[in-house]
Amino acid sequence: MRISRMDLDDVGASPQRIAEAVISQIPDLPIPIPVEEIACALGIVEIRIEPIKSFEGALITTGPEKAEGSILVNARSHPRRRRYTIGHELGHFLHPLHVPPAGGFHCTSDDMSRNNSAGVDTRIRQEIQANAFAAELMLPRSVFLRDLKRMRGLDLEHITELGNKYQVSKEAVARRYVHFQEEPSAIVFSHKGRVRYFCKHDDFPWLDVRSGAPVPAPSIAAASVGSATRATDWSEIDPSVWLSRPNQRGMCEQTLVQQAGYRMTLQALDDDSSEDEDEPALEESWTPKFRRK
Ligand SMILES: [Zn+2]
Repeated sequence: MRISRMDLDDVGASPQRIAEAVISQIPDLPIPIPVEEIACALGIVEIRIEPIKSFEGALITTGPEKAEGSILVNARSHPRRRRYTIGHELGHFLHPLHVPPAGGFHCTSDDMSRNNSAGVDTRIRQEIQANAFAAELMLPRSVFLRDLKRMRGLDLEHITELGNKYQVSKEAVARRYVHFQEEPSAIVFSHKGRVRYFCKHDDFPWLDVRSGAPVPAPSIAAASVGSATRATDWSEIDPSVWLSRPNQRGMCEQTLVQQAGYRMTLQALDDDSSEDEDEPALEESWTPKFRRK
C-alpha cells in the first residue's frame, strides 16, 4: 500500500479532512479498513502488542517532527478495540498540532471514549481529535452513511451488525451511529449498574446522568434482562427517568447486555404524532371556505 504523507500537508488540522485525505489515496477501499497496513504506509515502523495495565495505547515518535513512530497496543483488549487504538494513535501521529509530550502519547481507555467536552484542556482536546480521526478512518463517512440509510430507523442490532462489518467495538460504532442518525437519540454506556458516560445526537435533550452514578432504577437499562446478546425490545419509559428537563413527548428505551457487566442503552423520543393529527383538522376547517366560492 502506498500513501503519500505529503498529500496530507495541505488539509490543515481537521481530523475529518486528514482521515479523508488518507482514505482518498486507497483504491477500492477495503472494509474492514486495513488500519495496520495504513499506519505502516504512513511512517509507523512498529506496532507492538503487549499486556498493559495503566493505559490502552501509546505512540512513541522519533521527535517532535514525527518522521517515524511506533505504536504500543494493549494485548488485554479485544482485537476490535486494538484496531481502534491503532487508529487513535495514528490520529496523534498525523495531526499537525499534536506535539508529542516527553515519552510520547499514553492514552487510557477513558481517553479512547472521549467524544465531547466543553473544556479547553489541550490534552483532552487532542484525545477527542484522535478519536474523531479514528472514527473517520475506521468507519468511513461515505460508506457508513450508506449503511445507515439502508438500515432505516434506530435499533441496537444495527450497531452489532456494523461492529461486525467494520471490525471495531460496538461502543465506537454506537458513538458514530447516534451522531449521524436523522432521528435524535442517545446512548448510555454503563458497567455493573453504574453509568460510564453517554453520547447523544445534537438535537436530543440533555441527560440527567453523571459518570459513576447508578443507572436510574426505573429504567430498562437497570432492569435484569439476563445475559442475552440480543437487544431487548423497545419499551416506553417515563422521560423524567433520564432527562433533566423532560418535554411533552414520550420516550422509549432499548438495552443491549454485553459481556462482563457492560451494557448500552439506546433512547429515542416517541414520534411526535400531534403534527400529523393536526393536518386533517386543518383541511376540514378549510374545506367549507373552498366550497363557498
Ligand atoms: Zn490519545
